[in-house]
Amino acid sequence: MSSLEQLTLAQRYASLPATHYSPVQPEVLPDAKLLHFNVQAAKLIGLSADQTLHPDAAEYLCGNRLLPGSQPLAALYAGHQFGYYVSQLGDGRAMLLGDVAGTEERWELQLKGSGPTPYSRRSDGRAVLRSSLREYLCSEAMHGLGVPTTRALSLVGSPLEVRRETVETAAVVLRMSPSFVRFGSFEVFYHRGQHDNLRALADFVITHHFPQYANSPEPYLMMLREIAQRTAHLMAHWQAVGFTHGVMNTDNMSILGLTLDYGPFGFLDRYEPGFVCNHSDEMGRYAFDQQPDIAGWNLTRLAQALSPLINETAAKEALQDYPGLFATHYINLMSAKLGLPAQRENARLILPMLDTLHKNRVDYSLFLRRLCDFDPAPDALNAPLRDMFLDRTAFDAWAITHRAALAKHPQDITVRAGAMRAVNPKFILRNYLAENAIRAVRDNQDNGEIERLITLLHAPFDEHPGMEAYAAEPPEWAHHLELSCSS
Ligand code: AMP
Ligand code: MG
Repeated sequence: MSSLEQLTLAQRYASLPATHYSPVQPEVLPDAKLLHFNVQAAKLIGLSADQTLHPDAAEYLCGNRLLPGSQPLAALYAGHQFGYYVSQLGDGRAMLLGDVAGTEERWELQLKGSGPTPYSRRSDGRAVLRSSLREYLCSEAMHGLGVPTTRALSLVGSPLEVRRETVETAAVVLRMSPSFVRFGSFEVFYHRGQHDNLRALADFVITHHFPQYANSPEPYLMMLREIAQRTAHLMAHWQAVGFTHGVMNTDNMSILGLTLDYGPFGFLDRYEPGFVCNHSDEMGRYAFDQQPDIAGWNLTRLAQALSPLINETAAKEALQDYPGLFATHYINLMSAKLGLPAQRENARLILPMLDTLHKNRVDYSLFLRRLCDFDPAPDALNAPLRDMFLDRTAFDAWAITHRAALAKHPQDITVRAGAMRAVNPKFILRNYLAENAIRAVRDNQDNGEIERLITLLHAPFDEHPGMEAYAAEPPEWAHHLELSCSS
């Protein structure tokens, strides 16, 4: 286990041609204060837990002091935003410090909110405490839920004022991921007609992330296939857990199929297929139930960007499998949530269940957690579930079909309940929980709420006796929380 000044970074991204990035330097963050240090993520890169006590921890973790070997750079990318191509985006406020060997893989360390870069487009390069804390908590919540995601190592705050709709204060998250390459990282070179750069990036990604395809006769096609598979897998997880990303532009789509760039995300409370978490998304382009299709559209943009490297028909074929892959993953995940073996025919149970939840305004996660204790006896009323429905008979009708499905796969009731509890979380990061943590830090300089939430969210399937309040439906005030893109 090492200390911060013993971490030694390399910078493999700098092996790409200089067009792919710009060297940058973090801007000094005044009065930097460590708000949280994620011991679990630290372990992945061999950092010891006691780094919270390190006198310069905040300085290192916000970029005021550079970790040994750091070569900060901002990566170039473009992307389709809300359906339209935007020719130059790039890391406008993120800085890749370098990469470090972990126990199983190399991790790239990236500051978010550390000041302007050549891609900042007249913005300040900063991130506000509110959005930084939300990203910090949610990336760890997703990891706890078993959803592929970038990770967060630390959160550093500062009294530095940042102007958004109102004046807020700045923060820096140190993110970790095996890669931050996006669909848009390829798009930029395709649209500029720079096919050598396109190929260089594809080779880089294959070498470092998909080495199994390096010697394939069709490495670029295999890479596209792999990305489509991972994306299908990710969408299945989002839909199963009730997560809405909010800004599924191609520049926020990870080539590793990770949840990337947390903005106005939201978890479903009541089951609402058309839920739009981003109030700037007036057309509902990124509504909850649109996500799998949007990811498919985004994959088509990626395939187009890779077209100079791949036969067009082959690329089309590679994407044809995407909807089926998504559906299979999704049904598998949902079947487990219902306590059933993975089978296509379970769709006949899942879709009516979702429809009934929607019509009855039932809380999605709470329902599934309570379903773990479903009693399949013919005369059982299952009151804790039944009472969640405005129309009790609608639940009764669904329960009959559910009982019949369970009867086909007899299993000890406690064994089934245990398996279901391992896939139906008790704790999800509802907006109001994040909001409470933001208010505690902002108004009372109290970081205890972050620690409590991280503990629950890292183990969301456990009971955590005494913490029931954190598993509850949102209070009345939380229904009026508005989330904009501004961050
Ligand atoms: P996002 O919506 O956070 O994914 O950001 C979209 C693009 O805007 C990316 O290129 C970001 O780097 C850039 N961006 C967002 N906020 C800022 C900011 N405060 N300063 C500079 N660039 C920003
Ligand atoms: Mg982004």
